[in-house]
Amino acid sequence: MTSDALPDFPFRRSTHDRLGERRTDEAFLAAAWSDPRTRVVAMRGVDLAATDDGSALIWSSPAAAPDGERMLLGLTDGVTRFVVMTPDPGSDPPREYDEIQVSPAVAQPPTPQYFSPLRRLAQRLTDDDASYAVHATALAQWHLRHPRCAVCGAQTEVIRSGEARHCPQCGSDHFPRTDPAVIMTVVDDEGRCLLGHNSARADGWYSTLAGFVEPGESPEQAVVREVREEVGVEIDRVTYLGSQPWPFPSSLMLGFEAHASSQHIVVDGKEITEARWFTSNELRAAVEAGEIGLPTTISIAGALITRWYGEELPANVLAM
Ligand SMILES: [Zn+2]
Repeated sequence: MTSDALPDFPFRRSTHDRLGERRTDEAFLAAAWSDPRTRVVAMRGVDLAATDDGSALIWSSPAAAPDGERMLLGLTDGVTRFVVMTPDPGSDPPREYDEIQVSPAVAQPPTPQYFSPLRRLAQRLTDDDASYAVHATALAQWHLRHPRCAVCGAQTEVIRSGEARHCPQCGSDHFPRTDPAVIMTVVDDEGRCLLGHNSARADGWYSTLAGFVEPGESPEQAVVREVREEVGVEIDRVTYLGSQPWPFPSSLMLGFEAHASSQHIVVDGKEITEARWFTSNELRAAVEAGEIGLPTTISIAGALITRWYGEELPANVLAM
C-alpha cells in the first residue's frame, strides 16, 4: 500500500497478509508447515537468504529449510510463508536447491546460497519479497537484541509464532518495540528546501533532517524541536506525508514537510555540520557538479526530497 503524498520506495511496499489471528492457532501452524507448497526464507543473524545478485529472496519448502526458530510471516496468493532464524551463524543453507523457488525476474538460477542484509537487497526485490524481507528483518532485529526479560532479567522464549516473547520466571509477555522518528523536508516562503550534512556521512552528502521522538512528545512537536536544535530554524506548520518502517534496528520513520518561519541557519555542529537552503535549480546544479550527493530513492528521505523537487532527482555524481 502506498499513499499519494509521496513517491513509491521499497521500504513501504507491504503486500502480504500478516495472518495476525493465526499466530496462536497451533493446528493451522502445523498444517501449514506440513504443506509442501509453504515457503520458508532462512535468516542468519539479520541477513536474509537471497540470490547472489540480490534480486530475490530464496524460498525453500519446509522440508528443505534449515533448523532454527520458526516464525509465521503471512500469506500471499494462498501460499503461507515463514522465516527460520538459524541458531548458529555458521549453520547450513537449505539442503535441496531443486526446491528453491526463484522469482521469475531472476534470469540466472541461484548459485550457492548467500545471506545478505536488507539494505543491500531492498532496491531490487519484487514488491512481495520486499514486503516479507522488511517484516522478517524487523523481527530478527528485535529477537536478537531482546533475549532477556526487561522486568526480571530472565531468559525469555518465543511465543505466538514469533510475535512476542514470554518470560517463564515472572510471567510477563514482551512485544517487539518500534521507535518513532521524524524525518522532514523544511521549506520556506520562497519554496526553498533546507538540507543538512550529517557528521556521520562522508563529505558532501546532504539529506533531510531527522530525529527520534522523545518520551511524552508528539511527532509534530518533535519536528519543531529537531529543526530548532539541528539548524536553529523556527517551524510554524507541519504536514504529515507518510511513513516508512526502518528496521535498523527498530525505527518507524514518520515523514513530514515543515514550513519555516525563519531562515537564518545556525547548525548544532555536532549532528549537523553544514546546512543550506536550495532552490530546485540550485539543487540540480550542485548535484550535477558533484558538489553534493543526495539520498537514493530506497528510502523516505529520497522520497521526501523528490516530492519537493517535483520530479526524479538528478543522478549523483559525487563518489560515495
Ligand atoms: Zn521476567
